[in-house]
Amino acid sequence: MPIHEKSLIRPENLVEHEELVIDGVDVSGHWSTFIEPRAITDYNENLQEEIAGLAGGEFIHRCWQCGSCTNACTVNGLNPDFNPRYWIYLIRMGMESELLLDKDIIWQCVSCNKCTYACPRDVNPEGVMKATAHWLELKGHTPKPPSMIFDEGFSDQVFKTGKIEDGLVLRQFMSATGQKLTQNWLVALVMGLVKKLPLTMLTRLGLATFFHPKTRDWGRARSAIEEYVTEKETQTHKLLGLDK
Ligand code: SF4
Ligand code: SF4
Repeated sequence: MPIHEKSLIRPENLVEHEELVIDGVDVSGHWSTFIEPRAITDYNENLQEEIAGLAGGEFIHRCWQCGSCTNACTVNGLNPDFNPRYWIYLIRMGMESELLLDKDIIWQCVSCNKCTYACPRDVNPEGVMKATAHWLELKGHTPKPPSMIFDEGFSDQVFKTGKIEDGLVLRQFMSATGQKLTQNWLVALVMGLVKKLPLTMLTRLGLATFFHPKTRDWGRARSAIEEYVTEKETQTHKLLGLDK
């Protein structure tokens, strides 16, 4: 019998014989297609707990698999393999090896939050995608994604100075991701700002990029934040069974 829904079967599980004759009947090629049984034995029983322990993943247990997130998803519209509902299912079932088959596209979430607005159970699927991308990186399955590099640069600046200087964040991000500052879109952006912003503000922005001003009396707040971040990192490493 022909297989009508090959797209639902992993390609590696579809097997064909180039040349096969059974009882005198030539069933070579796709006539001899059969599906190898699929047995998953390496469940990670802690997978849902591990994702829920990372920022954004806290409410994954609420999912009832309605699929509204995937229906609303911007990236799914461009690539049907990008499927938040399916990944949430795999995580809840502990099917780590299946999840890893899609590790190279999970980070592509653009954080548009359309899924979050569509979700009837307040799962925060955008947060779950972020937590999953972070989990993949912490476990060494993927390199650090650009969004994580941006977040780290942003947070570092807040921790150190209690302020955000957009120009400095952008400059550090471009440097950390090996991108030139002379790209056309960036030059056009800066030229647009130069034309529209008052000279005093431009001067302040330029100076802040080099002198890194701090919020007054920031020291105590910084110590409290650093203490909290260290505590959270220790918890995460323990939960994921990582060496610190
Ligand atoms: S936030 Fe990510 S998962 Fe949600 S709709 Fe946008 S691209 Fe899709
Ligand atoms: S919309 Fe919410 S409840 Fe529905 S599948 Fe997505 S995460 Fe689960």
